[in-house]
Amino acid sequence: MHRIDLRSDTVTKPSKGMLDAIYNAPVGDDVFHEDPTVNKLEDYVAEMFGMEAAIFCSSGTQTNQIAINVHVRPGDEVITHVDSHVYKYEGGGIARNSGASVRLLDGNRGRLRVEDIANWINNPEDVHLPLTRLVSLEDTANRGGGAIYDFEEIKRISTFCKANGLPLHLDGARLMNAMIENNVPLKEYANQFDSISLCLSKGLGAPVGSVLIGKKDFIKKARRVRKVFGGGMRQAGFIAAGGLYALENNVKRLKEDHKHAKALEQSLNELSWVKEVIPVQTNIVVFVLNDHDRRDNIIAQLAEKGVYVMAFGPGMIRMVTHLDVTSADIDQTIHILRSLS
Ligand SMILES: *Cc1c(COP(=O)(O)O)cnc(C)c1O
Repeated sequence: MHRIDLRSDTVTKPSKGMLDAIYNAPVGDDVFHEDPTVNKLEDYVAEMFGMEAAIFCSSGTQTNQIAINVHVRPGDEVITHVDSHVYKYEGGGIARNSGASVRLLDGNRGRLRVEDIANWINNPEDVHLPLTRLVSLEDTANRGGGAIYDFEEIKRISTFCKANGLPLHLDGARLMNAMIENNVPLKEYANQFDSISLCLSKGLGAPVGSVLIGKKDFIKKARRVRKVFGGGMRQAGFIAAGGLYALENNVKRLKEDHKHAKALEQSLNELSWVKEVIPVQTNIVVFVLNDHDRRDNIIAQLAEKGVYVMAFGPGMIRMVTHLDVTSADIDQTIHILRSLS
């Protein structure tokens, strides 16, 4: 049976063109800085963002955790959203890897507001309180159903952080999805943040890898931390080549994934058993069932018909569109959704 996998945009497999690029990539020992393909990818990304430097890492968890480790010292406090990936989905890494504490804030669809951040900066003169040392944002926000930050809010947060000497990190796992929708140039994003993490293995379709972007001295420190975290890879050019190919070929087409997600949203909104669909902004569709207890049954029924989706909380299901899902797959999914009673 034809499989339509909407569980995540991480499930994509390399295309023929990407495999050719991987096969033909010149490689060397990257820990010695001698892998030409890794070097090319890092230069390409730094240039793309107009930032000084970049480093290729094994995953988005690794880029986030390295960034946090460079920014904070044990005991410091990181301000982030309660639903953020850095807190919720990285195995307690902020505490485990960096010994830091967190201040978790609420906010509409995974996004923070400058007023809330400002309220939670600890007075550095008060020895009772951990030193607030980092603010971490997520754009698009995964648990917010792929929500995009209003760029004006990012600017306000950035201005506030600069005025208060606070580094600002962006978990931009899906930043390209935000950028393609709101047309804010990557260089504008780069101007607001001290570090940005970008996933190549999500909707961009590379098999492995993320990049961390920042100033030269930041990336130099990140390189040391990456090694300590066991992330110094050798002939990594073979996977970097997939990332480079993804950036060169798969950014503009993200629009198509967003169109597909919109089509799913529209049809879900017409179904009697769906209570609510979180308004789609990018490639993530999250919906809530009238009867929460039916969630696993719905997921099983869809799987039986070849459509794979993910549980996303009580009565909630997530679907993510990506480059291995065609328009015909979306039509088929809608057809199957309508056939469920
Ligand atoms: C996927 C993701 C990451 C990184 O996850 P890895 O599986 O470690 O690559 C980071 N942040 C967000 C918001 C993500 O969705």
